Amino acid sequence: TKFIFVTGGVISGLGKGISAASIAYLLKESGLRVTIQKFDPYLNVDPGTMSPFQHGEVYVTEDGTETDLDLGHYERFLDQNMCRENSCTSGQIYNAVLDKERKGDYLGATVQVIPHVTNAIQERFTAILEKNDYDVVITEVGGTVGDIEGLPFLEAIRQFELSLERGQYANVHVTFMPFIKTSGEIKTKPTQHSVNKLREIGIYPDIILCRTERPMMDTSTRDKIALFCNVRRESVLELHDAFTIYEVPLLLYRQQFLDVIQKYLNVTYKKEVNTER
Ligand code: ADP
Repeated sequence: TKFIFVTGGVISGLGKGISAASIAYLLKESGLRVTIQKFDPYLNVDPGTMSPFQHGEVYVTEDGTETDLDLGHYERFLDQNMCRENSCTSGQIYNAVLDKERKGDYLGATVQVIPHVTNAIQERFTAILEKNDYDVVITEVGGTVGDIEGLPFLEAIRQFELSLERGQYANVHVTFMPFIKTSGEIKTKPTQHSVNKLREIGIYPDIILCRTERPMMDTSTRDKIALFCNVRRESVLELHDAFTIYEVPLLLYRQQFLDVIQKYLNVTYKKEVNTER
């Protein structure tokens, strides 16, 4: 099984969920068995108690689990039902760790974020594989890089990747590139900062998806991001605002996303994506 981790930088509400779902769609259409899961840094055990005005719809899966609205995107893009294992929150992780602590399972150890919480998170990265086998598991981490809440998840990704071989995982970072109207420029600095923050934590993005308002990324901008963010040129892709979100997989496809990710994941596609659908 291969793993893709999707993180977001600069601002929230960027379209991280849509991007992750679009990646899942393309890989599934290439004949791979794919699933996608969402890890949310908030302490609510599930979003069932959160105001929809603040958080958007609570998406209820087939098995009755109350989950994040991104699971709705996943189901619609993948045409696959999600379940309890596809959604995890910090609240669930801490609940599990504290339960174990009360039962004495840690045998007198001082219970800490590292390693106990990060170990519990890593166990959840692969828990989905106990139900079904998949070629690729995509994990989207909620929130934005730099948030205190998200740190244990990012640290768990770093540790998890250390236990894998090269070619078993890829890191995708979704960032925002603002266009400054008055100077007529597209700005890469926020992306550079966000990637630096991620690298400080020990996660090295392989692919950078730049959200822009309009198609506007030229060769020099792409080169600049590649140089400053330490990624290959062809790994810098642009996702402009689409007319409908169902166009996003096509935007990725046209920029050779499948060839790019194949280099990192070492997967063999079983069929061609049908772009007419
Ligand atoms: P995040 O997971 O980063 O919080 P979402 O994936 O939930 O963001 O997307 C936020 C909003 O932006 C959604 O309403 C979604 O429909 C819209 N959106 C995402 N990507 C695009 C895009 N490329 N073009 C147009 N709208 C988009």
